[in-house]
Amino acid sequence: MRAAVLHAPGDVRVEDRPDPTIEKPTDAVIRVTAACVCGSDLWPYRGIEEVDGPAPMGHEYVGVVEEVGSDVRTLEPGQFVVGSFFASDNTCEICRAGYQSRCVNAVPVGALGTQAELARIPLADGTLVATPEVPADDLVPGLLAASDVLGTGWFAAVAAEAGPGRTVAVVGDGAVGLLGVLAARQLGAERIVVFSRHESRQQLAREFGATDVVAERGDEGVARIKDLTDGLGAHSVIEAVGTQESMMQAIRATRPGGHVGYVGVTHDVAIPGEELFFSGVHLHGGPAPVRRFLPELIDLICKREIDPGRVFDLDLPLDQAAEGYRAMDERRAIKTLLRP
Ligand SMILES: [Zn+2]
Repeated sequence: MRAAVLHAPGDVRVEDRPDPTIEKPTDAVIRVTAACVCGSDLWPYRGIEEVDGPAPMGHEYVGVVEEVGSDVRTLEPGQFVVGSFFASDNTCEICRAGYQSRCVNAVPVGALGTQAELARIPLADGTLVATPEVPADDLVPGLLAASDVLGTGWFAAVAAEAGPGRTVAVVGDGAVGLLGVLAARQLGAERIVVFSRHESRQQLAREFGATDVVAERGDEGVARIKDLTDGLGAHSVIEAVGTQESMMQAIRATRPGGHVGYVGVTHDVAIPGEELFFSGVHLHGGPAPVRRFLPELIDLICKREIDPGRVFDLDLPLDQAAEGYRAMDERRAIKTLLRP
């Protein structure tokens, strides 16, 4: 099969790899209908995370079940499925509490790679959710978004307790931040402020439900949020970047008693204890338990109540994965969809 492999920073190649097979009775093998490039794929691509290459790439996927192991009970070949970036049993105590990304048996799908024609998905019964029928082609990007960026933005909005009467601020105008806007809107937030200085992203944020755009960052950005909220700060802040600056911006933009939902994978973030202590904010986040939200998100997408697939502004054949990475790295694209 053809698959994207990262050899060194900046060096993504699509090459032949062995077809995955059923290795454990709980596995499924799927034929990938669509995959995509994640903001977190850019960390190793940029050399910020060490590349232990050659490494298969990709952890977002939708596809059709090709084969299932002997212990798989809920899936059969031919079904269209959506999964998430951590395989989970969905039965342990952590999963049942809604934290499937921290399942005691979690397997990172990114280590297996889904930017490929085929993918082995461990713990298939717990991980994959089948759609009611094979979806129309134009629903595929939205369902693919559910597998990570939408699910992550949704978790961030839930963790930040976005809801009616709340002002929600969103730090980060990448795909996750933009879908955090969509989620906050669906959850009934009254006012949604997005930090962005890119016109096309501001436009999409407004279409997803943002009511205000703030171009300033850091403490200037925080001051603008205070201006908009009678000096108090937002009730709910979504952090979708993962840098020191973005995390502190999120905490400082939140009013005492408010909630920060952080989902940007942190890189060298250190929160000063005394500032955290006196902030009086709730912090909740981490790797999003996308599996918790998949049934609801699939339903909203299939009923065409939300259209998260609009975050994909570059649609390429898998063989052009290198260009897909470059375009996102150079911020020419918000998010690249890859079709095997
Ligand atoms: Zn579990």
